[in-house]
Amino acid sequence: MQISDVTEAASALHQFIQQQQPLTVLTGAGLSTASGIPDYRDAKGQWKRNPPMQHQEFMRDGELRKRYWGRSMHGWPVLYNAQPNAAHHALAELQHQGLLGTIITQNVDGLHQRAGSRDVIDLHGYANDMICMSCQARSPRLAMHERCIDLNPHFAALQAGSAPDGDADLETDFSDFRVPDCTACGGILKPDVVYFGDNVPRERVERAQAALRNSGGLLVIGSSLMVFSGFRFARQAAADSQPIALLTLGTTRADSLAQLRLNTDISETLSSLLLTPA
Ligand SMILES: [Zn+2]
Repeated sequence: MQISDVTEAASALHQFIQQQQPLTVLTGAGLSTASGIPDYRDAKGQWKRNPPMQHQEFMRDGELRKRYWGRSMHGWPVLYNAQPNAAHHALAELQHQGLLGTIITQNVDGLHQRAGSRDVIDLHGYANDMICMSCQARSPRLAMHERCIDLNPHFAALQAGSAPDGDADLETDFSDFRVPDCTACGGILKPDVVYFGDNVPRERVERAQAALRNSGGLLVIGSSLMVFSGFRFARQAAADSQPIALLTLGTTRADSLAQLRLNTDISETLSSLLLTPA
């Protein structure tokens, strides 16, 4: 069943949650666009812009890393300063009421936790943490950001629009950009996120799969599930005969697997759902 009216969608989702509680929730970029974080894909699941950098490119190409950090210096503060929106708060409230179980998120912005949700699995990592690819030392992204500015004041003075995942729209000659290395070992520093072409750590996938198996079903919010790392949970739920609901504008890869498809605004629908009498 597909619904395109907010009031009807909230009512149907309310009923779905009551029947299947606790639900596992899987969230994607569409949840955080209302927090000012741009999305990569359009309503048909197609790229709106050039696909993001792949892990292998980042590791082997020093010139691409200069470009990456030169742009991140402008784009990352948008991610860092973003605030949870009504949808993050609604999910935290529903989780607090015991209606939702684990929240698996494909987002790297940490906004579920900041809205007060517990039991969140950051499937693709957390963009505000850094990891050294040689010695595995962890460090805050803020420190990296400040080192980039200190080493590259002339790049910091440029103007650029924000892009998804802490990237920015900035085209210039980055050959003079100085990329900070690990202060402990001189290794390559990388945000602790799973890039395209990289695998989600197995332990993390298994933890998410177990959470889904032990819940009443799957609610996908704000994701077209075009990336397999998210789609696999819809496949698992379908294989285990667990019901699936989708709340996202546009088409998804799991449309044929879902019992309930809500093609409505995410924040409006979840806010309306909270007002629905029990
Ligand atoms: Zn290191």
